[in-house]
Amino acid sequence: MGLSPMMGHYLQIKEKYKDCIVFYRLGDFYEMFFDDAVKASELLELTLTGRDCGLEERAPMCGVPFHAADEYIAKLVGFGEKVAICEQLTEPQKGKELVVRDVVKVVTAGTLTNTDLIDEKNNNYLASVYLESEGGALSWSDLTTGDFYAKNFSGKDVLSDIFNELVKIDPAEIIGNSMAREVLNASPLVNSRILPNVRYVAESEYEHSLARAVLEKQFNVASLVPFGVGDNDLLIRSSGALISYFITTQKSVLANINKINVENERDYMMLDYTAVRNLELVRTLRDNKKYGSLLWVLDKTVTCMGARKLQNWMLSPLNDIDAINYRLDAVEYLFKDNLTRTSLRDILKSVKDIKRISGKISNGNLLPKDCIALMKSLENMPKIKFSLSGLSSKFLIDISSDIYLFDDVISLIKNSIHDDSESSNVKVKKGEIKYIKDGYNSELDEFRNLSTNGRNVIADIEKKEREATGIKNLKISYNRVFGYYIEVTNSFKDMVPYEYIRRQTLTNCERYVTEELKEIEQKIFSAEEKSRELELKLYAEVKEFLYKYIKELQTTSDAIASLDVLLSLSTVAKENNYVKPNFVLDNDNIEIIDGRHAVVEKVSKQHFIPNDTCLDSTQCRAMIITGPNMAGKSTYMRQVALIAILGHIGSFVPAKQANLCLVDKVFTRIGASDSLIFNQSTFMVEMSEMASIINGATNKSLLILDEIGRGTSTYDGLSIAWAIMEYLVNNIKAKTLFATHYHEITELENILEGVKNYKVTVKEMQGTIIFLRKIMRGSANRSFGIEVAELAGIDKAVTQRAKHVLKQLEKSNISQNNVNTNDVIKPKSEIENIINDLDINNLSPMQAFNVLCDLYEKVSDKDE
Ligand code: ATP
Repeated sequence: MGLSPMMGHYLQIKEKYKDCIVFYRLGDFYEMFFDDAVKASELLELTLTGRDCGLEERAPMCGVPFHAADEYIAKLVGFGEKVAICEQLTEPQKGKELVVRDVVKVVTAGTLTNTDLIDEKNNNYLASVYLESEGGALSWSDLTTGDFYAKNFSGKDVLSDIFNELVKIDPAEIIGNSMAREVLNASPLVNSRILPNVRYVAESEYEHSLARAVLEKQFNVASLVPFGVGDNDLLIRSSGALISYFITTQKSVLANINKINVENERDYMMLDYTAVRNLELVRTLRDNKKYGSLLWVLDKTVTCMGARKLQNWMLSPLNDIDAINYRLDAVEYLFKDNLTRTSLRDILKSVKDIKRISGKISNGNLLPKDCIALMKSLENMPKIKFSLSGLSSKFLIDISSDIYLFDDVISLIKNSIHDDSESSNVKVKKGEIKYIKDGYNSELDEFRNLSTNGRNVIADIEKKEREATGIKNLKISYNRVFGYYIEVTNSFKDMVPYEYIRRQTLTNCERYVTEELKEIEQKIFSAEEKSRELELKLYAEVKEFLYKYIKELQTTSDAIASLDVLLSLSTVAKENNYVKPNFVLDNDNIEIIDGRHAVVEKVSKQHFIPNDTCLDSTQCRAMIITGPNMAGKSTYMRQVALIAILGHIGSFVPAKQANLCLVDKVFTRIGASDSLIFNQSTFMVEMSEMASIINGATNKSLLILDEIGRGTSTYDGLSIAWAIMEYLVNNIKAKTLFATHYHEITELENILEGVKNYKVTVKEMQGTIIFLRKIMRGSANRSFGIEVAELAGIDKAVTQRAKHVLKQLEKSNISQNNVNTNDVIKPKSEIENIINDLDINNLSPMQAFNVLCDLYEKVSDKDE
């Protein structure tokens, strides 16, 4: 006994797709065999069965129904698997040869084209990394939108720069040449699943001449210079390999990938992974959610295209004054023009994801409902252009001219596709419901008439036969096995005429056909078959027509996305009272009046206290900020960084006034956390972050340092913090905000030029403290840690004891010896009186704290 022919064919396919789980179509199921079946049954929790395959042992087998396959494929892909879809390419026919089957597509996480399986507000990128000893390049692209970017890396920080970029891109899948695979796969970011494992692709895909040929073919050009790639070897290798991977998985042309956006490092502010995380730009630190992040505040976009673009802008702030002002001027225009802003936002609400629809046109998975969504979206373009006409902002003018009108597309879809296709998930296959409109094609109408009339004729026959036979309950029905038949119940069996041909006997009835019925059935079937075939052909023609508009649809959707982001930024600015920041050439200062923290002011129950900032490159390039725990030091420092970043994105900022200079990099060193998966202790994490800041910062950078040296012994920590500050101020000269509880460091103000001390003010009252949240010149000498511990609910026995220990330590002069009581502002008499009347001891520490805060706010408002 040998292998069955089908199994022989399966094994040939499997040989070609060794690294994939092969979904082998058998009738209404996709079956998996051998090791694939064992693996998939475990991952998908499917029953593992077996199939005779001509060998002694049965082949392990499991399967999924074809109509539910997408869900299972998505799960496997989510587990990092590649799935090869082997389809039946011919209809099974009795007695005929084997059904022809072949792989039509390979699905991987970074090449998914089924938009139901991916987040509509996020890109789904495939990244390709090419690394060699001299440098590296990264290319990334989203097949569903056609977005394609590439970036070259050189210098001493190639690896960390590539990692930072990868984390921001957040690719669904990464491929790389052997060196990239080796280095990236050994990194903690991959081991801890922040980045996916780098997948193997043949080394030859990264070979220069092959990669170049692939790109030239893809873009149909003889030179890559206009694409910004030029002759850059690294960019060509990483980009060419990426396109090859798409082609081998999709097995089709990639019509929506028609340009590469080569990113130049100099054009963007550098934000590393730590800064993006610590400043909670798109996700919160605590639970990795959008709620509570800067993106959450800024995202008032109404289209998915806008939501994706906003996130891209946020993670790549600009580093060029003209480019920033190009955006800011547009935001300002929309900010001032309430009518245009609100009406444009209303119109955009009816615009669907044109970018991904153009991706579907390109990828061949466009559904009739997408056509209707496209048509309805495109109908809004004239209104948008009209609203933008006459506006003087350069960006808005450019947006308007990038929006096409698509009259031909609209009228074709309107005439050809049924409106109710929009709500159905109609797949364009034989036997599905009608989606081509009546009246669009006369031949189709004729077939439809025939089949509808045929049904009327059946009704007439039923009536005629009832009358002729006298069988009152005679009825004509249909099933897939027998087609049309006459059904007569047993009680009337004797009245059946002799010309009736018996087809089936059931318990209560008999089923018959007649020659006349067979004839009509034939007519109906052939009309229905022809109408289905024609419908498919007509739909293919519609798709072909739309195919010619992919480029225009992409340009339009990019313009709509930008408009949506600008509207979002101007709406947020209006609602939250932001101002336009001034970026002035040759200015080297960050001057903020009444700055606020964009997120804290939205979530805090208490009134947000604004603060000023003045950082320059000479007198005050480093602010040393002291003040009690909970006073607002971290909030203040982050707010300065967020204002700078917001400005560089092209957004208005939460302040009364802001004059900003260009910042090339923002670095943060915030908080203390172990990173056991990274094999690093708290202090090690802190020092590694500090090392990358010292190595990467320049005099154009902004550094947010929230505590340095806290993870080790007091004197070691203090000494390290001291030395680092000296180095930053003297050597790097970056603008630095440094919060510390090492009050000794405030001495640096007297020693180093460019250092200024600031403190966050508090009031001490009846053994507790009130936070004023105001930043003032000067230094604090106490941290009020014990008082804050008490507010947090630590048992009084412990805090009393701590106070006693502190006194002893102070006496023995180990620390905190010169407490300057002048730093603590004495309470105002009015508030003192009110407080004396309150029985604070009966309140919980947190209640007492809140009462005091409210009281103080009232009094200080009055004073102002
Ligand atoms: P620690 O030294 O303990 O880290 P901190 O001085 O850094 O404390 P923050 O974490 O910045 O204190 O602030 C504590 C809380 O105070 C914040 O979560 C916020 O709710 C509130 N807060 C901070 N600044 C302000 C402000 N300017 N206006 C109103 N509330 C503020």
